[in-house]
Amino acid sequence: MNGARKFTAEVAVVGGGPAGLVSAIALAASGVETLLIAPAAEDDHRTTALLASSVTALATLGVWQACRAHAAPLAAIRIVDDSRRLLRAPEVGFIAAEIGLDAFGHNIENRHLVAALSARAAALKLSRIPAAALAIASDGDGITIKLPEGVAQVRLAIGADGQRSLCRAAAGIGTDRRAYPQTALTLNLAHDRPHQDTSTEFHTESGPFTLVPLPGRRSSLVCVLEPVQAAALAAMSDTALSEEIERRAHSLLGKMGVEEGRGMFALAVETAHSFARQRIALVGEAAHVVPPIGAQGLNLGLRDAATLAELVADARRQNVDVGSPSVLARYDAQRRADVTGRTFAIDLLNRSLLTDFIPAQAARGLSLYLVDRIGPLRRALMREGVAPAASQPRLMRGEMV
Ligand SMILES: Cc1cc2nc3c(=O)[nH]c(=O)nc-3n(C[C@H](O)[C@H](O)[C@H](O)COP(=O)(O)OP(=O)(O)OC[C@H]3O[C@@H](n4cnc5c(N)ncnc54)[C@H](O)[C@@H]3O)c2cc1C
Repeated sequence: MNGARKFTAEVAVVGGGPAGLVSAIALAASGVETLLIAPAAEDDHRTTALLASSVTALATLGVWQACRAHAAPLAAIRIVDDSRRLLRAPEVGFIAAEIGLDAFGHNIENRHLVAALSARAAALKLSRIPAAALAIASDGDGITIKLPEGVAQVRLAIGADGQRSLCRAAAGIGTDRRAYPQTALTLNLAHDRPHQDTSTEFHTESGPFTLVPLPGRRSSLVCVLEPVQAAALAAMSDTALSEEIERRAHSLLGKMGVEEGRGMFALAVETAHSFARQRIALVGEAAHVVPPIGAQGLNLGLRDAATLAELVADARRQNVDVGSPSVLARYDAQRRADVTGRTFAIDLLNRSLLTDFIPAQAARGLSLYLVDRIGPLRRALMREGVAPAASQPRLMRGEMV
């Protein structure tokens, strides 16, 4: 490779979505020599409801300060059965004050989150190559990453390169994947009435229709539909779509006006057979994909990033090879229960919405009835949602890695 540049570092993070940026920042902040291989982010008008422990992690990394003005607190969550089925579930409300919190978390547009993370990475003088990795090869001693203008050699590669992960393929890791007959239409909108920091999830026969607060009289919408219906809505004019959404929201927030930036996402559930192998560790959607119910996807991804950064920093302090099988095995073991437990619950809930099988609808209705009526059960669920027992890495507790 004549004239090609050669980069070396201890760790390379491949992918500059939120999971990759948090991985790179956490490692660089703890003194690990890190290379970020990441083309510029595409414009993403989606929003992420970050649970309180994710907000704590971002604050600990010095990122949250730049996010705060763009984020709205989630003080309450309502789940409303909006299906026309025979057996309908009762409405259930979760209020953060019931477990002594001001908010379960905050909702922020991904473009603001990624901008704040990118600014923090730049402030930490993280080496960033603004290009995609072309190929990744692992041998016993290290990893070689082919780049458009050279190669990078590292001890560990963190695959934060999303659903079609090159890193995952390079490690020879397969997945269990099932596509749902659903597409999420996403957009942000302004509305007449205040949302009162409350997120409302209408459960319909085609999936959830969820309004999540943004600062001011604005909210984000995730509307899950059959693909043909989603395409029909996405093709509407702004005026027609605003009226249609207001109708579907039962005018809960008054008159609505959609903003620029509609997104369409085909939904699937996918879990990697292993989260780390051959000096490659996977974080975020490279490791697991869940449908957008209950705001779990990126919160899981941030716990991957925090756990891995902690294990790598510990290995380095003990003079252990950061890409060694023992570090990778510990990472896989520490993430397995959190990821599989949540994926199972979200998949079950999503499928119970889609099914016409009456006993499954009855079981869903009964579960929500019990959650509504039994205070300790409801509070335990809320605590588990905010701070999962299976995974509390140091960053999520407000400590550096
Ligand atoms: C409709 C919808 C709503 C959602 N709402 C929520 C929510 O409220 N809360 C929540 O927690 N989660 C939510 N999620 C999930 C969340 O959006 C994802 O978990 C998150 O975006 C995944 O981030 P990531 O960094 O893993 O991957 P991505 O954001 O996909 O980033 C991957 C990056 O890798 C880069 N890349 C790919 N290949 C290469 C390569 N070869 N070299 C270098 N870079 C590469 C890409 O350019 C991209 O920038 C939602 C998902 C959907 C679909």
